[in-house]
Amino acid sequence: MVLLLGATAAGTWLFLQLTEARQQIDDRNDRIDEQDDQIEEQQEQLDKKEEFGAAMAGLQSTIAPLAGLPFAQLVPWSDYDLLAARAWSQRRDIAAMDRIISDVEGATAELADMQEAARAQAADNASGSAWEATLDQLGGGWVATSIDDVSVSCEGDVLACVNGSDPYVVHIDAASASDEAMTDWIRTGVAYHEFAHVLQFLNPDATAAAEVAFGGDWETMADCYALTVLPGWSLDHNVPINEYEYWEISVGYGYTCDESQRQTIRDWTAQLGFEQHTIAG
Ligand SMILES: [Zn+2]
Repeated sequence: MVLLLGATAAGTWLFLQLTEARQQIDDRNDRIDEQDDQIEEQQEQLDKKEEFGAAMAGLQSTIAPLAGLPFAQLVPWSDYDLLAARAWSQRRDIAAMDRIISDVEGATAELADMQEAARAQAADNASGSAWEATLDQLGGGWVATSIDDVSVSCEGDVLACVNGSDPYVVHIDAASASDEAMTDWIRTGVAYHEFAHVLQFLNPDATAAAEVAFGGDWETMADCYALTVLPGWSLDHNVPINEYEYWEISVGYGYTCDESQRQTIRDWTAQLGFEQHTIAG
């Protein structure tokens, strides 16, 4: 009876020992699995971090050749800073990182496409006009010339315009092509005026400071840009009709700027464009 009891107790004890050992092994295996998972996850996070870094480097190298273009708004640094900030706060979330990387690649492709379009546009004068030749030269191809119905595109009785919603396009009145009083010299000067509007829209900070010299009037400022930058330009023109007659043509807004305003224009144009910027996360 006693013996039997002893044997049962020993058996139970052994069984408990074995169960405990098995439990320990299971626990250890679980921990190893967990560690493997963690290592795998950390590796994935590192890979994503690297992928994001490479995407950002690609963006920076697409921006680099744009330095010197007089369009501050061309490079939306604050958007890029936001991408970097998102990448930092979501660095442990693989799916989120994938989305951010694809956003960076999208931004890079957008800039590269614009650059390619500008290259093609600078090389081609589709309208064969002095308008486009001048705008291609001033804008390095970045500014498109759209010869269209300005009563629609500009919503007004003007020769040409630039809309803030699409500041890379200058709209020119199609009717001006057949206007006998319109010379290529006048087209050239008006193209300078319109290019000033492109610069105004695409450099809001520098423009806010410079427009003060013109009482905030972008039109007299644009006239002054043409008068300052295009040698020999004037707002008044005599266009010969024949040996005895000529048209008196006035373009612009009737005010010829003074020397101090011309200096404002020179200072303004000297500081246009975007500054290099380290994308901060
Ligand atoms: Zn204007």
